[in-house]
Amino acid sequence: MSTLFNNYARRPVHLVKGEGTVVEDADGKKYLDFTSGIAVVSLGHAHPAIVNAIQVQSEKLWHVSNLFESPEQEKLAASLIKDTHFAHAFFCNSGAEANEAAIKLARKHTGKSTIITFDQSFHGRTFGAMAATGQDKIKQGFGPMLDTFKTVPFNDPGALEAVIGDDVAAIMLEVIQGEGGIHAVTPEFATVISDICKSKGILCIVDEVQTGIGRTGTRYAYEQSGLKPDIMTLAKGLGGGFPIGAMLGTAELFDSFGPGTHGTTFGGNPLAVAVAQTVVDHVFEEGFLKEVNEKSNALIRKLKVSLSPDQYDIRGQGLLIGIDCKEDVAPFIRQAEEAGLLVVQAGTDVIRLLPPLTVTEEEIDQAVDVLTSILLVPTTI
Ligand code: PLP
Repeated sequence: MSTLFNNYARRPVHLVKGEGTVVEDADGKKYLDFTSGIAVVSLGHAHPAIVNAIQVQSEKLWHVSNLFESPEQEKLAASLIKDTHFAHAFFCNSGAEANEAAIKLARKHTGKSTIITFDQSFHGRTFGAMAATGQDKIKQGFGPMLDTFKTVPFNDPGALEAVIGDDVAAIMLEVIQGEGGIHAVTPEFATVISDICKSKGILCIVDEVQTGIGRTGTRYAYEQSGLKPDIMTLAKGLGGGFPIGAMLGTAELFDSFGPGTHGTTFGGNPLAVAVAQTVVDHVFEEGFLKEVNEKSNALIRKLKVSLSPDQYDIRGQGLLIGIDCKEDVAPFIRQAEEAGLLVVQAGTDVIRLLPPLTVTEEEIDQAVDVLTSILLVPTTI
């Protein structure tokens, strides 16, 4: 019996090293990693600039408490908010923590308690983030939930309008639902959310833990959505593999998060910030996102040429792409793994492709070849 709790359905593969998009297991078998550790390793495995950032910073200072000032955090915050309407950042260690901060800030700022979230959303596993999540399976056995979340169908204006009351602090959404099956907010629904937020003084929180930092072909996915969020949360790709999360907010929210309101021991420590700064400098560098979009177009085009639109719905943005197979994809994911391609499930029916943003066109070709060879064989054989 394992010395670990059994809370992950782990695949029987022990990965021991990686470079770029390629990872290698303990037996020396190589795989193309189209999971990026679930949207994390944005610059690929062992990117030389990240290795260097860790080496240099680890010889200087790994950790200081947030009791002391941090020009490094200030610089990273400035990079994240540059050319946006956000004004301030708070750093933490994970996506769930960033969402907890967002929930607290929204409640503190508005003095109201209800937060509206959406069916099939995923916001994390901590108590608040779990209660916010619109998937029953995530909550099973952990009730009662915090009762101030109201979860309604996604992209359904009538359902949203029906729950807007005087006690609503915020509407919280993923611009593209990642875990829930790659479902993007529609432009019409984004307009409805924006109008409600503006007219009722309700805050808009976007959870960009999975979609942020270039994953969808723009710095942040909200830039393509028509939303102008008051609060945005980030994690995953921000650290390129090193744990860090962030919450960004507008200037109006500054006074609501004064000294003593919120905090974390490790959040934004010098090592994490040095790595995240390196990631952000690369991803936000001119030309980088243009290449991400070119690769995205190539990946989508090749999938669409090979897979019939009657049977497969290919959707997503940038390098967050889903192939909806309209059946349980768990067997396909195992077959891909055997064939040397790592992919991840979204919902039940969707194969999610999340290669590093540095993936090459040749690697895209190889991945599409593996996927089509698996999907185009009748599953009864
Ligand atoms: N929010 C979204 C949209 C996510 O996809 C995830 C993780 O998959 C989280 C929050 C939780 O992030 P973490 O696992 O870092 O707590």
